[in-house]
Amino acid sequence: MKDSKTNSKPAGKALFLWLSTISLILLMVGVTALWYFISPRLHEFNEAFPFILLTALRIFFFFLVVGSLLVLLTAIFERNFIIAKFATHMFIRIMYPVCVFFGSLTGIPEEHIGESFVRVNDTFIRSLRKKFDPKNTLVLLPHCLQDTSCPIRITVDPSNCKRCMRCDIGKVLELCDEFGVDVSIATGGTLARKIIIDKKPKVIIAVACYRDLVSGIRDAYPIMTLGVFNLRPNGPCINTHVNIDTLRKALESVVIQPV
Ligand code: SF4
Repeated sequence: MKDSKTNSKPAGKALFLWLSTISLILLMVGVTALWYFISPRLHEFNEAFPFILLTALRIFFFFLVVGSLLVLLTAIFERNFIIAKFATHMFIRIMYPVCVFFGSLTGIPEEHIGESFVRVNDTFIRSLRKKFDPKNTLVLLPHCLQDTSCPIRITVDPSNCKRCMRCDIGKVLELCDEFGVDVSIATGGTLARKIIIDKKPKVIIAVACYRDLVSGIRDAYPIMTLGVFNLRPNGPCINTHVNIDTLRKALESVVIQPV
């Protein structure tokens, strides 16, 4: 079975930014409406109470709007507008589930939201302009990149790969050697989490489908995780591929390169 995503481009970052902006506007409208309906009761309780609450809400909304603008500027221009680190936290921890919920109400597939989220997350990481030592960098690959006919066990030790180049594992290992970064291959989320706990990288470049990237990015946080989508010409989870140029660009953006 061919994967439906094979011929379509992953969703861009605009979708997630739009969804999160609309979600915040709805949050402000909802909270204001709630204040409007309960303010007569609050007035009975204490005359100044509705006014104090409204002032507090206005201050909160002011920071929310300014913060959202800075987040949008960070995401659009890939520059750290003061708030990139906070934005990463807010988007990974809070905005993803909110956007998935809102998206489900409007019929937007979670897959598109997830792809867009991965791109926005990458933008925030790149905007920090932070480079890491290769020895603190981990490239995490899915087991499905390996050719199914290859008899070599590479999950325990990727260096067992003979680099025959029948699948992309060999190409990725050559690229990682060039950058001097560590590589691990995970058969699933549980093993990926164990690898991260054992190796304690400061930055991860993960290759996976949108679903695994979203859960990996959220699970690994606060370790920064750049996502690279795998290519699935044979359907999900079988003989997948990765664009080596995309992976190289991801490495170049976060790893101190050898001189
Ligand atoms: S490059 Fe060759 S040896 Fe390495 S995992 Fe792929 S098929 Fe096996």
